Amino acid sequence: MAQHFDYICLGAGSGGIASANRAAMRGAKVLLIEAKELGGTCVNVGCVPKKVMWYGAQVAEAMHLYAKDYGFDVSVNQFDWKTLVASREAYIDRIHGAYDRGLDSNGVTVIKGYGRFIDSKTIEVNGENYTADHILIATGGTPSYPDIPGADLGIDSDGFFALTKQPKRVAVIGAGYIAVELAGVLHALGSETHLFVRKHSPLRNFDPMLSEALVESMQTDGLNLHTHTASKSISKNDDGSLTYELESGETFEVDCIIWAIGRHPSTSHIGLENTQVELDDKGYIITDPQQNTTHEGIYCVGDIMANGVELTPVAVKAGRLLSERLFNGMTDAKMDYSYVPTVVFSHPAIGTMGLTEPEAKAQYGEDNVTVYTSGFTSMYTAITAHRQACKMKLVCAGKEQKVVGIHGIGYGMDEILQGFGVAMKMGATKADFDAVVAIHPTGAEEFVTMT
Ligand code: NDP
Repeated sequence: MAQHFDYICLGAGSGGIASANRAAMRGAKVLLIEAKELGGTCVNVGCVPKKVMWYGAQVAEAMHLYAKDYGFDVSVNQFDWKTLVASREAYIDRIHGAYDRGLDSNGVTVIKGYGRFIDSKTIEVNGENYTADHILIATGGTPSYPDIPGADLGIDSDGFFALTKQPKRVAVIGAGYIAVELAGVLHALGSETHLFVRKHSPLRNFDPMLSEALVESMQTDGLNLHTHTASKSISKNDDGSLTYELESGETFEVDCIIWAIGRHPSTSHIGLENTQVELDDKGYIITDPQQNTTHEGIYCVGDIMANGVELTPVAVKAGRLLSERLFNGMTDAKMDYSYVPTVVFSHPAIGTMGLTEPEAKAQYGEDNVTVYTSGFTSMYTAITAHRQACKMKLVCAGKEQKVVGIHGIGYGMDEILQGFGVAMKMGATKADFDAVVAIHPTGAEEFVTMT
């Protein structure tokens, strides 16, 4: 007979693990099913290894761009990609261990294997059936490839993290978070890097100040940005290098091509046809504000939900709130998908939350929006020959000037945003920002001193 649980979580990424742990902490008997390593995209081939690589890039920039003017005579004999990768993977192993211990101490049963719905209450994994009153789908997403000849000669972000040696010349194609972050890291670590975007700019849906400043920074730093490009084909050369051809006929010879053109939901092999869970036309699971799918008793969090926000902490929060609702009597608990702060680990980092200036003007009317900006050279680089710009913007709405958008690009922005996020979530106005004494000298102080 099938073993019965209160709750089965399909997928042990950030959302699944968080929800499973919280449910178990509230007394539920929980089964967590995962085919690969614990931690999903974020821990294994996403946020965590990316941030380690970004820190590696910061070390490189400190030595190559800034050390000399701070008085250090640094000569770098070599950069060993393998060492950085080994340190990174050892760190990830420690995170796996922490997850194992956490799940174990909460009493969550973990099974390694591919789970699939047999019916709405039954999951089959490794030939065994398990039933549950409540089942969470948290299977995440996978990178997309374009439909062009030779596309498979390129790699995706998973492939980037599997690289055992640093590519000398690399083409990154895409215009979102992943393209910008990987191109920035590779460039800073010394690869000849080309970023190809199909429109006028990367991150073009971010506040225009951010994308414009990022493009300027790429130009200053010598990263090769190619705009208005369309991919035609990839072919392999006799020496192992790749030729990337654009629709325009232009070709580029590189050692590695990375597709970063978006991701799609992993919903195709989990037996959804045996349930009444409905998908939208792109394959994302239709989910209501309390994470219910269209089939009662089946829920969804993370990158596979339609109209979600594809960010780890969003999946974590939604997963935990769902468990509080199901197993702790918090019947109204639901994720608030508005005003989600986010950081792009670009060079320099971008922090952003709320409405862009164009979005605010469209929503509130041009006359009801007041914008404050600040631009300066980051003090870290004010004494060095290589300068790094910092740009910040507050978008305020209505007579009371409620802060509805906060945007910044510059040194430390990745750490600056979180606290301002609290203020915005509380409905802070420009006057509230101004009432705070600046911390001097910091970049963050500009947000409370703008006139
Ligand atoms: P995104 O969807 O953010 O960006 C992909 C972009 O690539 C598209 O927006 C599009 O931009 C461009 N694109 C699409 N198709 C093509 C094509 N055929 N050729 C060239 N360019 C194309 O996807 P990512 O994979 O970068 O990231 C996925 C999600 O993961 C993000 O949305 C983010 O939520 C999350 N993430 C978060 C990170 C963080 O928090 N720091 C880090 C990494 C990922 P355009 O239309 O302008 O051409």
